[in-house]
Amino acid sequence: MNLNLYLGFLFSLCTALSYSANINFEVPTWRNGAKAAHTIAHDDYCSGSVPGVENTALPILNERGLTASIGLIAGACKDDDWSKLKKHLAKGHELFNHSLTHVGMLEAGSLKPIAGWNNEKEIASAHQLVKDKLGYAMQFMAYPSDLATPEAKAYLLTQSDYLGARAAKHIYDGSNAGINSANNIDPFFIKNDVYWHDGKWSLYKPAGGNMLIQHVNAALENGGWSYRTMHGVADGSWEAVPKDEYIAYADYLQKKVASGELWLAGPSEIIRYQATREHCPLVLIGNTLKLKQNNELCQRYSSAITVDLHIANELAGRFTQNHKPLPSKQLANGKYRIQFNPILGDLYIN
Ligand SMILES: [Zn+2]
Repeated sequence: MNLNLYLGFLFSLCTALSYSANINFEVPTWRNGAKAAHTIAHDDYCSGSVPGVENTALPILNERGLTASIGLIAGACKDDDWSKLKKHLAKGHELFNHSLTHVGMLEAGSLKPIAGWNNEKEIASAHQLVKDKLGYAMQFMAYPSDLATPEAKAYLLTQSDYLGARAAKHIYDGSNAGINSANNIDPFFIKNDVYWHDGKWSLYKPAGGNMLIQHVNAALENGGWSYRTMHGVADGSWEAVPKDEYIAYADYLQKKVASGELWLAGPSEIIRYQATREHCPLVLIGNTLKLKQNNELCQRYSSAITVDLHIANELAGRFTQNHKPLPSKQLANGKYRIQFNPILGDLYIN
């Protein structure tokens, strides 16, 4: 281990652990102490080109209790799509903004915007349309073909509902593929891997076996977050995933989620978790766990994070936030797990 890594390791230990006489706590890297995180994303919903998302992929996931994120071309959604999307939201799937019309953002390989791209229209009005139709605020953006001008990226930062975006560049060369490491996430440049039959621009090749599973394993091996981008499944869409490969992937995810090794969630939930860990540091003062310091980023991203507490035998293992009991799970003698959003109030432990 080189010195920088060693110091970084010591530093993260010091920030992750805190002690008082009777209690110590730890915020696991991923929810519920999973080893890694993974996101399923299907682009181009509503375009009519990916019927397999609705007819094949989502039923396979729903049967296994798995959730995906669905990228909308909002301007193409019809009444029937909106009512289906309402049901998908109720099942816990996330919706993300994939522009209003999917007009190419720029000439690939240059920073010259394509005529017809307009930030207000493609980003903000798509957002507003989904809000009007579903009462739902999308929080994550994936630009068409993952190509974006610096102006579009800057514009997105001004949109208060947005917490992040899929990594976009001005040229499509696969260099935005990769694994997001837990302690160094740029929420507006979330690396991903796009499914291609032949592995073009992907980190993986078919010779290594099911490429969808290879991407899950890469996260598990690195303790990171892998984000999988796909279009349709078994539907003749652009680089559609064959059904048998998709089923094997879903079965594998189900197994890894059930064993507690993998946290499967939409991008905004994962971004919130990591940002809360990073920007909302906790401190234990006596029997009270609280925010060490509040700040703008903590306010913006804060969500419930997992906190594992080891408490002394003389304490009862009762947790109270704002005078209300906070549910906990006993993991072992004296070890409890809670989901705690620190900006909602201090946690009292007795
Ligand atoms: Zn697309």
